[in-house]
This record gives sequence, structure tokens and C-alpha cells, in this order.
Amino acid sequence: TGIPTATISRLVTYLRILEGLEAQEVSRTSSGDLAERAGVTAFQVRKDLAYFGRFGTRGMGYTVPILKRELMRVLGLNQTWNVVIVGVGRLGQAIANYPGASDYQFQYVGLFDVNPELVGTQVRGLTVRHVDELRDFTRGARVDMGFLAVPPERAQDAAQALADAGVRGILNFAPTVIQPRTLERSGQQEISDEWRAVIVENVDFLAGMKRLAFYILNPHLSTVDTE
Ligand code: NAD
Repeated sequence: TGIPTATISRLVTYLRILEGLEAQEVSRTSSGDLAERAGVTAFQVRKDLAYFGRFGTRGMGYTVPILKRELMRVLGLNQTWNVVIVGVGRLGQAIANYPGASDYQFQYVGLFDVNPELVGTQVRGLTVRHVDELRDFTRGARVDMGFLAVPPERAQDAAQALADAGVRGILNFAPTVIQPRTLERSGQQEISDEWRAVIVENVDFLAGMKRLAFYILNPHLSTVDTE
């Protein structure tokens, strides 16, 4: 019994709305209010939240700080996440320099590249290391996530380096489908041990532009996602 990826995306949106309400010192909200602000239906909000428990009182709505805290807990944002960036070029440096991540306990703990002109330099207080050092690095420091910002043709190898280093999640910015390594075991193809626990999330802004181009040309085909 899975949970739709669209639900998880919306939880992130609800959390952002709750943060905004809290900043405005609004203490209560409702599924109707959240729905309007998120551009979905109240039924959708209740359905999304119901996957994770009961957070409100019937007819009374939700207490903003409590629902916010609960969504943070559901999303795992009440703990620290140690992140390495692999590929410290234009995008990798922009990410390293973007301050927003630290609001959510995402901490950049290491930067890795192969370019000898970059290795050894400092970006935002961190020394860029050679990607060959990744495995040793993760022996000495907990690393939960890897940001992959290498050229597309290097993405598979760099992802393998992250998996070999025991990193559990990869946020892949390269327009490449990352394939877990498979092994043949008793005549069957099986995912290799280092990939079993690895989750890959793809971020592809060009894909978003392509979808947008399609929907601009076909506006009547654009529907509200009610998955
Ligand atoms: P870039 O060429 O500026 O940087 C890539 C970096 O990766 C370089 O520093 C290079 O030395 C390093 N690298 C190459 N092989 C490596 C390896 N095996 N291990 C570690 N580092 C390695 O490229 P960019 O513009 O930063 O783009 C990076 C990726 O992100 C590309 O796949 C690109 O398609 C994608 N992307 C870029 C943008 C953008 O706006 N720049 C936006 C979306 C997606």
C-alpha cells in the first residue's frame, strides 16, 4: 500500500503554507482554508493528511503549529540530514551557495568533483574534495543524501560512487535515468547490495518546460491532479 507521490508533493506545499500562516501568527486553519491556498479541494487535503493519522478535530480544523510540527515529523524534517554535493560546477556551486536548505536541517558536509582546478578550493567554507575520496569520507562522517550535479554522461558513474559510499538518497539533477547496478545470482538479475536501500529523486527543470510547452499548446488537456 503505497502513498501517491503527488500526496508527498502536496504535504510539502501544505507545510510551506503552514509556515506562512505561523509567520502571520494565524493559529488555526481548516482543510478548506489549506485547500484554497494550495489550489486543491478540501477533500484532497483531508485525504492526503489521512494517510498519516488524524491531525484535527472534526468541525474544529487544525492548530497551525501542531499540524506544522506533525508534517515536519512525517516528512522527516525534524532531524538533521547530512548532504554531499557531487559535481561542483555552475549548478553545484549555486546549490552550495543557496542558504534556504539550512532552514530545514539539511547540512552540506562535503563537496566532491574531479576537476583538478576545483579540488582543494573552498566553496562556502567547505573544501572541494576529489570524488575518489567519497568512500573514505563517508566512513568518517554520516552522509544521508547526495546531490548529483555532474554532466549527464558522468551521472551514472557518480551515482555509483554515491551508492558505493552508502549514501541512501540521490537527488539527481542530470537529465539521465540512473540505473541501479544489477548482478546475476542463480540465473536471475538482482539489484546489487549497495543499491538496495538507495532512493533516487530526479529534478529536471527542462522536463518541466517541455510539459509546460505541451500544456500551453493544449490548454484544454490541463486537468487538476486529483490522484
Ligand atoms: P558544469 O559543467 O558547470 O559542472 C559539472 C561539474 O561536474 C564540473 O565541475 C565537473 O568537473 C564535475 N564532474 C564531472 N564528472 C564528475 C564526476 N564523475 N564526479 C564528480 N564531479 C564530476 O555543469 P552544470 O551546468 O553545473 O550542470 C550539472 C548537471 O546539472 C548537468 O547534468 C546539467 O544538465 C544539469 N542541470 C544544470 C542546470 C543549470 O542551470 N546549470 C539546470 C538543471 C540541470
